[in-house]
Amino acid sequence: FFFKQKTEYEIGVRLVGSEMCIRDSSNTVVTGNPVIDIQKIRKDFPILSQTVRGKPLIYLDNGATTHKPLRVIERVRKFDAEEYGTVRRGAYKLCEHSTQLYEESRKKVAEFLGAEKPSEIVFTSGTTQAINLVANSFGKRFINKDDEIIISNIEHHANTVPWQILCEERGAKLKVIPVSDEGELVMKEYEKLLSNKTRMVAVNHVSNALGTINPVKEITQKAHAVGAKVLIDGAQSTPHMKLNVQEIDCDFYTFSGHKMYAPSGIGGVYGKMDLWEEMPPYVTGGDMIMKVTLEKTTYAKPPARFEAGTPPISQVIGLGEAIDYLNEVGMDNIAAYEHTLLEYGTALLNDIDGVRIIGNAREKASLISFHVDAAHPHDVVTMLDQDGISCRGGHHCAQPTMIRYGVPATTRASMAFYNKTEELDALAESIKKCIQLFSE
Ligand code: PLP
Repeated sequence: FFFKQKTEYEIGVRLVGSEMCIRDSSNTVVTGNPVIDIQKIRKDFPILSQTVRGKPLIYLDNGATTHKPLRVIERVRKFDAEEYGTVRRGAYKLCEHSTQLYEESRKKVAEFLGAEKPSEIVFTSGTTQAINLVANSFGKRFINKDDEIIISNIEHHANTVPWQILCEERGAKLKVIPVSDEGELVMKEYEKLLSNKTRMVAVNHVSNALGTINPVKEITQKAHAVGAKVLIDGAQSTPHMKLNVQEIDCDFYTFSGHKMYAPSGIGGVYGKMDLWEEMPPYVTGGDMIMKVTLEKTTYAKPPARFEAGTPPISQVIGLGEAIDYLNEVGMDNIAAYEHTLLEYGTALLNDIDGVRIIGNAREKASLISFHVDAAHPHDVVTMLDQDGISCRGGHHCAQPTMIRYGVPATTRASMAFYNKTEELDALAESIKKCIQLFSE
């Protein structure tokens, strides 16, 4: 192994499955270029020092929602206690200040996603509302009878149901990119689905059910070649990797704050300005108008056109703080560290008889979905909970994906950069105990 000369790590080597890993003095696996100071990071998240059922909390449901660093919690508390005011509506100091902070957060999101300008970011309550916004507004303007919309077989229901409803309403057709046994989109089949009838391709960047990282740049290029627009559901990618929507060249890109260490109730969608400008409002009311008379309403320019009503102001400020924190830790560092967790956990689970990993794509985020032959996922997660381990068991709001793999549900361990390899060791031991119990 190649190590930087001045390393503070005491090097130990241990075999995990067929993988060789290096551990530091606290028994944490590090790569040849350690990038995350895990002890320091964990101290940033107060909830991680809790015990659950008398055991240290091992939180492995980050795909559902992530915990917040203290500085995000404190920033929201300070804002609410000392700075809070409504946004965009008043000429007094508190309002001006809140509006400034609100717009600063929009700028932070734009930079985080690599957007050209802050006005391309529309705040919503999260990815679900973001996709509903695009499906409804884009759909009203651009989708007609016999048009086609393409999704994939590994979408969250949030990126399935809005398109289904839109197709029913407009007489359009929904087409589905198949997925291979390994969990990768079958790109040859995707190419066959594309035609001059395709108006929209809506796929996730990272599958919440399998962990697959989809080739979104290639998907976008191919869609654009037939004149279709592209929406990328970024709910599972934004916490894990450095992004640049201009490089991907997608037309829309969604995110959820509560999956990226920010408060719940806030998220949004990037969209290219020329498209936003052509799209009609979805939710209507205050703040989204230019002028209202009893006869007629004209609409504000984007993004205000799509942000009717008083937004979740404190949550937006918290989102900005979470982005500052992620930038300080470094998205490339997060991706590299989480990859070591993925490899470590995969090797451990592959070593357990009676456990089958579902989703073995070549490119994966730090999420492992698996099936335990001896027990239903609901029993598995109940057993894991007895050991203080929070894992998700269920269909993960991706029932068509479960049908594709012939399982009613899976157990899912989804890791964040505050997780450690010891926690994956504990997960593996707990699964073994569970198998033993259910096999008796
Ligand atoms: N898309 C994906 C891939 C997800 O994982 C989720 C949530 O789990 C969503 C969409 C919906 O996100 P939210 O519940 O934050 O709106």
